[in-house]
Amino acid sequence: MTDMHADLVVRNAYLITMNDSREYFERGAVAIAGNKIVAVGTDREIAGSVKAARVIDAGGGIVHPGFVDTHVHFMNTARGAIPDSAETSVMMNTFRRWWDSVEEEDERAATLLNCLEMLSNGTTCFLEAGTLQFPDLAAEAAAATGIRGLIGDPFLWDVPLAGDTHAMTRAPRSRKRSLDLLGGQLKRNKGEPLIRGCVVLFGLGSASDELMRAALALADDHHVVFSQHQSFDTHDGSADEKRLGQRAMCHYADHGLLSENCTFSHMNDLTADEVAVVRQAGMSVVWCPVTSMSLGAEAAQHAHHLEMMRAGVTVSLASDGAVSGCRYDIGLQGLAALLASRAKNQSKLAFSAEDVLELATRGGAKAVGMLDKIGSIEPGKYADIVIRTTDLPEAQPITDPVQALVYSCGSKSISTVIVNGEVVWSGGQPTRVEAAMVYDLARSSRRRMWAKLSLAPESKWPLVV
Ligand SMILES: [Zn+2]
Repeated sequence: MTDMHADLVVRNAYLITMNDSREYFERGAVAIAGNKIVAVGTDREIAGSVKAARVIDAGGGIVHPGFVDTHVHFMNTARGAIPDSAETSVMMNTFRRWWDSVEEEDERAATLLNCLEMLSNGTTCFLEAGTLQFPDLAAEAAAATGIRGLIGDPFLWDVPLAGDTHAMTRAPRSRKRSLDLLGGQLKRNKGEPLIRGCVVLFGLGSASDELMRAALALADDHHVVFSQHQSFDTHDGSADEKRLGQRAMCHYADHGLLSENCTFSHMNDLTADEVAVVRQAGMSVVWCPVTSMSLGAEAAQHAHHLEMMRAGVTVSLASDGAVSGCRYDIGLQGLAALLASRAKNQSKLAFSAEDVLELATRGGAKAVGMLDKIGSIEPGKYADIVIRTTDLPEAQPITDPVQALVYSCGSKSISTVIVNGEVVWSGGQPTRVEAAMVYDLARSSRRRMWAKLSLAPESKWPLVV
């Protein structure tokens, strides 16, 4: 190997590459120049061939590709706003009021807080679910933290539903409004921006075939993904069936509304025929295991994510919203998916630790349309890398890094997060923004929002103040 110059080398790493052959190095190193990975190898090889401006010694800790969270709503400032025992319809109605009332400073606070939470948990790329009221402002706030992400346009929908709890005055269901806004965020996709645009509809039965056709055409033309909520539970599954005269995914397939650029979220309530068309379309599926379980979604009991994975469908993991998904933490989602799969299938063989890493890295990268750029630690890809410490009881002793990562080394073990070649999280703190400032903004936003919506914390036990 010839002498190579690098801006940063991560050495002495128990390195999980997630490359095509899934190689991992007991003592490996990664060299980074600018925003890209330029060399990967044994520590000895890299030390002998790369001149580095800066070296991070991982101390034998686990190093892996950043996680990709493929479906998030930026609203962790709404934590506690909805009683834990409230029905899903009450939750959605509160969300509607929340989304109708959010102002710029609220969206900025929520975006900053969410992005810091994701970085702290090893997520280096997200896809927002189409519920930002001020996408330009949110893109700027997200980029300020150094995270990578994809966003679409807000609340695009055109099918009015009976008893519509999602009705919002500021985003009425209108085909004209939706078509006017559709694709607006694709303006970002010049050069190598941290925050890119994709095509997002709200979904869950709220889009006509015409709107879906326009969304898919834009996504296919621009080589980006088209994302929407789909088939969360038996309620919207059967509502779709009643409206369309057949199961939703079969209807979409029959009407040319699916392609490999489709990335649909939840997908709990699917029939065998729908699973077959998903596979045939080559599309991606987003699995939000914690949301499904915490909302008590009946459809989660017979969901087919595992079957789709085994059939070669790209499945990824997502946190959804803070109220249902608990934490913006792909490690938690992966462990939940593993445990749920084993319990449901009554077999340890149903789902492995390796499966968790597949979904969290390469699966996520493919689901956001960026597998050629992220999802593994390989020369030519963006340097989106997580470094974990060994200096914790649960990180000792490491015999298998994949097992250690999935079962024992939670987010507490994350010491450094690199996105686009830059250290953006280090020693429990973000490097680009002041965490205390973000927490202040979030607390102020919560005070304003709760006052505006007359929300009060649920108190099951006597509160002494
Ligand atoms: Zn969602």
